[in-house]
Amino acid sequence: MTQSANLGYPRIGRRRELKKVTEAYWKGDVDAISLLDAAAGLRARHWRTQKDAGIGIVPSNDFSFYDQVLDMTAILGAVPTRFGHEGGRVALDTYFGMARGTPDASAMEMTKWFDTNYHYIVPEIGPDQRFSLSSLKPVEEFREAQALGIHTRPVLIGPVTYLLLAKPTEAGFEPLALLDRVLPLYAELLARLSVAGADWVQMDEPALALDLTDDRCAAFDAAYRSLSTATPRIMLTTYFGALGDNLETAAGLPVDGLHVDLVRAPGQLEAALHALPADRVLSLGVVDGRNVWRCNLSGAFERIEQAIAARGPERLQIAPSCSLLHVPQDLGSETGLDDELRSWLAFADQKLAEVAALATAATAGKDTVADAFEASDAAVGSRAQSPRIHNPAVKARTARVSDEAMNRASPFRLRRARQQAATPLPAFPTTTIGSFPQTAEVRKARAAHRRGRLDAAAYEAFLRTETEKAVRLQEKLEIDVLVHGEFERNDMVEYFGEQLDGFAFTEHGWVQSFGSRYVKPPIIFGDVSRPKPMTTAWSAYAQSLTERPMKGMLTGPVTILQWSFVRDDQARSETCRQIALAIRDEVVDLERCGIRFIQIDEPALREGLPLRRDERDDYLGWAVGCFRLAAAGAADETQIHTHMCYCEFNDIMPSIAALDADVISIETSRSHMELLDAFIGFSYPNDIGPGVYDIHSPRCPDADEMAALIDKATERLQPDQIWVNPDCGLKTRSWAEVVPALENMVEAARRQRARRS
Ligand code: GLN
Ligand code: ZN
Repeated sequence: MTQSANLGYPRIGRRRELKKVTEAYWKGDVDAISLLDAAAGLRARHWRTQKDAGIGIVPSNDFSFYDQVLDMTAILGAVPTRFGHEGGRVALDTYFGMARGTPDASAMEMTKWFDTNYHYIVPEIGPDQRFSLSSLKPVEEFREAQALGIHTRPVLIGPVTYLLLAKPTEAGFEPLALLDRVLPLYAELLARLSVAGADWVQMDEPALALDLTDDRCAAFDAAYRSLSTATPRIMLTTYFGALGDNLETAAGLPVDGLHVDLVRAPGQLEAALHALPADRVLSLGVVDGRNVWRCNLSGAFERIEQAIAARGPERLQIAPSCSLLHVPQDLGSETGLDDELRSWLAFADQKLAEVAALATAATAGKDTVADAFEASDAAVGSRAQSPRIHNPAVKARTARVSDEAMNRASPFRLRRARQQAATPLPAFPTTTIGSFPQTAEVRKARAAHRRGRLDAAAYEAFLRTETEKAVRLQEKLEIDVLVHGEFERNDMVEYFGEQLDGFAFTEHGWVQSFGSRYVKPPIIFGDVSRPKPMTTAWSAYAQSLTERPMKGMLTGPVTILQWSFVRDDQARSETCRQIALAIRDEVVDLERCGIRFIQIDEPALREGLPLRRDERDDYLGWAVGCFRLAAAGAADETQIHTHMCYCEFNDIMPSIAALDADVISIETSRSHMELLDAFIGFSYPNDIGPGVYDIHSPRCPDADEMAALIDKATERLQPDQIWVNPDCGLKTRSWAEVVPALENMVEAARRQRARRS
């Protein structure tokens, strides 16, 4: 019999219950008991849902109050000293303190989990770190499920991945050097799980999908050799990509099972069948855990049959490609999607049914679940044909795109002279990144409008007043290039998606981004086109209010792609190109309305970078091409800006330069301009606005401090390259914070000008 397994279930609740109760606890509105009770209720419901869906192997310890990596940090007792943990069990408030900071201790860093939009809390490990088992959460949750009559397979983050994700507290130190110190704790935890009755655990080692040095491969060997004598048995799970050159390492480990991602890397099945010893269990990740599309069951079943032919049906498991944490919980909650669109989709609960059907088919034949296969085939057929998905005009246009279309008319030097002639600006020109405070008032008006309690005319009038306020303020502050403030936008991707064809939106399709922050990504289901201009009315209105230049504000194609669920029936590069053409049309229309400065934000460019080095050039090639395609419709006189939030630029500098934006604004204030080293090391050719103050903090630096940062920038860049701006949009700040900060910023720019004239 072939078993069905799940690797992790969304933990947030179908109505975001976890967010609500956790935030209420943080505010002091509910006590710890209520929080723990609510969490136990969610776990119980989720275990039952999975059982009822026919899943044979249900995970536990996939629940987390904040993040599963932070849970592992608590389990290992690796609490940084500043949180004052004195040994013993890590208290709930210490746990939340590590994630969110306390009055005395800054929060631990957070970063993206592999190439997902889920953020984990980065462990901080130094050479003197001691470990001791400081949370028995996996054992407790296993027992909790047992008590409900559900036998689970606990999930742990494996020791090598855990240490590889940690950040050293001392330069040059490799946390992996402490592997021998954490292994005994893993062994102890496994022993305790065994005593509690667990016969299998799921050990997540997604690091096996990364480029690994020989040393790191050896660490996997050492780790699992040391754990091999332990019971329960270990299902080693890999996901987010092919094992590739690590397959031999993974297949050779003395564990009882190996899970492979056959959605991201269907091609690795053959090799995995070959490499894995016959007595091991192979878990086939055939249902996409990263996306919202209904599984092509017939296609998946071909792979399963191939595995059965090679190994027989016994030592196989059918599973999603990875944890279902990355998809919304239940399509059944959506009332706004039409039947056709709905028939193409599967959220976590639907994916469980797919996994169960495939396992049944593997065991008892396809005919026993003929209905499921028929429905899946029908959905595949309709997606392949539907005119809602396939727009011949869009496909013809993307096919026609020439290399020419990705180049501005003239090189940067010439453009710059023409821009300066068209709209003269002082040295050290000042601007902001786009948004102004999204106050409670703004959000209230938007919500009222959405619910039909504020009519279109009244809402519009409200937004006009806000926009005018922002314009007048910027004039008063004497900022050189103004923005309209983005008051009409809920979100920088959703705002565009709602106006483009090919996008759909859910009501409850939340996925966890970090802690209690969830996002509701749009779904790009069809060819993307722009029925009509999206931003020109607001930009033209704002421009009409002032003599100063107004900067148009667009989200770039790569960021729109990266922050959406993207169709899987064509290459991402193709979808991105379609979006790029829509943005290009918007650029041209803005120009037609007299807008001479246009910013195309690409904060997500870096995060789309593939996990494996040998795939990066391809990605950077098409991503940069799409940005250029979006921008290059602009005349030489039009200045194209782009903006990126904090990211590691060093390894992608040539690509940043290849964007050929006239001006790029970036975060640098928190790193005291150190980030700029990447730009000089490379001698970045175009203009740069290194953020001179950190908008993520309520603190308002004075003009001296900002002037000192500009000084630092002038040590690294040509003075005439430099723009002066905050490091990101101001939407999360209050007016009371924004006004003095911008006053000081303009003053700092003035001092620079005075000194140099
Ligand atoms: N223009 C956007 C804003 O100001 C940019 C946001 C971002 O970089 N994430 O809000
Ligand atoms: Zn930003």
